[in-house]
Amino acid sequence: MQKLEVQLGERSYPIFIGESLLDRPECLLPYIRGRQVLLVSNETVAPLYAERVRKVLADGGLTVAEAILPDGEAYKDWQHLNLIFDALLAARFSRKATLVALGGGVVGDMTGFAAACYQRGVDFIQIPTTLLAQVDSSVGGKTGINHPLGKNMIGAFMQPRVVLADTTVLRSLPDREYSAGLAEVIKYGLIRDLPFLEWLERHMDGLMARDPALLAEAILRSCRNKAEVVAADELEQNDLRALLNLGHTFGHAIETAMGYGSWLHGEAVATGMLMAADLSWRENWISHQDVARIRTILVRSGLPVVPPPVSPDEFLRHMAVDKKNIDGRLRLVLLRQLGRAVVTDEADRGRLVATLMAGEH
Ligand code: NAD
Ligand code: MG
Repeated sequence: MQKLEVQLGERSYPIFIGESLLDRPECLLPYIRGRQVLLVSNETVAPLYAERVRKVLADGGLTVAEAILPDGEAYKDWQHLNLIFDALLAARFSRKATLVALGGGVVGDMTGFAAACYQRGVDFIQIPTTLLAQVDSSVGGKTGINHPLGKNMIGAFMQPRVVLADTTVLRSLPDREYSAGLAEVIKYGLIRDLPFLEWLERHMDGLMARDPALLAEAILRSCRNKAEVVAADELEQNDLRALLNLGHTFGHAIETAMGYGSWLHGEAVATGMLMAADLSWRENWISHQDVARIRTILVRSGLPVVPPPVSPDEFLRHMAVDKKNIDGRLRLVLLRQLGRAVVTDEADRGRLVATLMAGEH
């Protein structure tokens, strides 16, 4: 088992990474302050793993209630958030209750936001069960739900007390979901950690076989990168945290143009990262070989690298609503070199259009 500390002053917390952590009371019980625990999961994950977590909590002498949500991004809304409050109030849980999120990013985001709101804030714990949640959404304290007019528009910053990344639960993850998580893993190498990118190139075959030791290493190095960025910019007040958005401006445009759900987020990000790389090459920042290298590792990870048939006009329209933009100027995360991303609003419009058209054929 590996341990990584997210350094956020009095809100600091550990991330444990390893095999079968779900069964280990010492990773969970010391981080629970009261006697009441609400285990929040969904209809897919609960039948697979909830009983093991429930047992550890109950054996620890805690009162355990459950809230099982329907599975899917479509349910990350007010109505289903209320199911968590219903369960908390029905069980008459106090301000000393702890919420435990067992699931992917959807369950984690909803549980964290519910914890931020319930009686103005109670403790919460993340047990992420997708690769994406283990390397990305469970770290950093962003929580929230969707609004019909915008994704993740209602939320709060809320740090967990502990994160348990159990590599064995990833065995049951569908291949597409697994690859989508790898896109965010590769992202850390591209934006700020060239040695990690090289390590991923050496070990991608083993990672695709979900080798537990390699997975633990990949998760640790991903979380370390995210934790360092978050520690330096917890509330997203400067450009540092924005670097985590490599590929996301292009990716969000793909997701919106194709309709949410047809491309997984990580798939759109993968294609978006390659588009960002293509533009970085047009800006003369990285070489053609660098772009080819990025394409190769994405393909080896089972990720798409060809943009969908979306016109440059439509791309630009969707990209214009990105949260990073300031005063109507498009701001993009590009690669100054391999392993070093920058945020810029100076990308040449003609080159950007060339990148958008390059995907059209
Ligand atoms: P998800 O939570 O929808 O999980 C993907 C699918 O895998 C679901 O069907 C889920 O039930 C299933 N699943 C989960 N664990 C499983 C397991 N071990 N075995 C089998 N099936 C399993 O999606 P996700 O990719 O984990 O997360 C996406 C969400 O995370 C989005 O809502 C996104 O906005 C959010 N997100 C948040 C942050 C953040 O910083 N808070 C960062 C990135 C993404
Ligand atoms: Mg992402």
